[in-house]
Amino acid sequence: MAARGLATRWQLPVLTGSATVDVLVYSAVVGAAVGLGFPSVLVATGFAPQVATSGRTRILCVVAGLLVAAANALLARLVIGSRLSRLARAMRAVRTSVEHSVVSGDVELCRDGCHVPVDSADEIGAVAADFNALVDAVGRAHAAQRDLADLTRAATSGLDAERLCRTALGELRARSGAAGAAVLVSTDGDRRVVTDGAVPAELLNACESYLRGPQAARRTEADVARLGWSCTALAVEEAALGVLLLPGTSPDPGRRRLVQVFAATLAVSLSNAVAHERLAVQSRVDELTGVLNRRAGLAALAEHLRGGDRAPVAVAMIDLDHFKAVNDAHGHLVGDRLLAHVADTCRRALRAEDVVLRYGGEEFVAVLPGQGAGEAAAAAERLREAVARSPLRLRDGTCLQATVSVGVGVAGDAADPIGHLLREADAALYRAKESGRNRVEAAHPAARGAGVP
Ligand code: GH3
Ligand code: MG
Ligand code: MG
Repeated sequence: MAARGLATRWQLPVLTGSATVDVLVYSAVVGAAVGLGFPSVLVATGFAPQVATSGRTRILCVVAGLLVAAANALLARLVIGSRLSRLARAMRAVRTSVEHSVVSGDVELCRDGCHVPVDSADEIGAVAADFNALVDAVGRAHAAQRDLADLTRAATSGLDAERLCRTALGELRARSGAAGAAVLVSTDGDRRVVTDGAVPAELLNACESYLRGPQAARRTEADVARLGWSCTALAVEEAALGVLLLPGTSPDPGRRRLVQVFAATLAVSLSNAVAHERLAVQSRVDELTGVLNRRAGLAALAEHLRGGDRAPVAVAMIDLDHFKAVNDAHGHLVGDRLLAHVADTCRRALRAEDVVLRYGGEEFVAVLPGQGAGEAAAAAERLREAVARSPLRLRDGTCLQATVSVGVGVAGDAADPIGHLLREADAALYRAKESGRNRVEAAHPAARGAGVP
């Protein structure tokens, strides 16, 4: 111990640039000095001075001192050098493993083990123990980096919010070994819960109020903690988006930080996914009436015409009768409500596979896949009747009764099938208007009389 303290305080000058040669030189100097002084020791211990101090004895003492010094330097090289070589080999192995894992993404660092034995209770042993601790720390840092990379990949894996949460939770559970995990997302009044593994129902009930402001969030956190779970907010720029629920709280600060980083990444990804979903809906749906807009609806019609498996395809062009008068009498806001009401009535009067689109101001088109002229005319008649029998009741008790005129067209072998269909339906609609409104007219002769009054 004292020797170790001395060694750390004292340092002999570097002589040659090679520690082994320096040891040899210092040993030789000490050996020669001991050899030179040894005759005096012999005299002091009773040897005859003429023998002890003779030239031969002096030379023999110096040679013996130098031989002991050389042996000492050799032993030092064997004992310490071998341990240092072992350490150097282990260091090279760690370096190669780190470089390899960076290039190949290999998950395991030092697969064959990079630790060195700690078999000496001095500086050499301390260096070996410190090296082993360093290898462990590098291994943990590498594992954390790998976990973070995998979790980030999972948390940014797509633009479908639900699938994104499912993938991210699965990866998080696989890494943390948690029995279950959940994400609660709340956007635009729409609340979604995605769970993975075992998640108690009372936990989700406790989270109901989480997004209602900071006080409710604090209460919720306490409730969640009582159930042995923890919640991490999913927020982007202070805007709360949801909450991540995990069982317990990890005692490992590194793990807790990993969850925080994961939650921050997932929040940004989720916010993008939700914005993407919102845009996708906005780009397809007419905001006022909730049916498909013209572009998306005509694309669906084109798809049906191309698909061919549900041929024939018919369309019904629907126009509200005297709608301008409604606007004039009740104002445009009431007109808007009536428009939405009629669109909803049309949707309900048709089959799930039929498509209703807003074609223009107060005009809609119903796409009726698989319907021939007769069936399409009958469907249009059901739709007309439904509108005529569904008044819109206003807040002041007034009932507004809309009617529609409908023109039906059926796809033929035209070069421009959509244009042909719409032109046919439009011409039939014109006839329905001409002949008194609140009527269905079909372009195709076979449809006339099939459900058309
Ligand atoms: P017709 O029976 O001949 O179809 O008569 P109409 O009054 O329904 O037809 P017209 O073409 O004269 O008027 C259509 C009206 O629809 C005029 C326009 O202000 C109104 N309109 C179009 N889009 C909207 C809308 O989004 N909201 C409201 N409130 N009115 C609309
Ligand atoms: Mg009209
Ligand atoms: Mg019109």
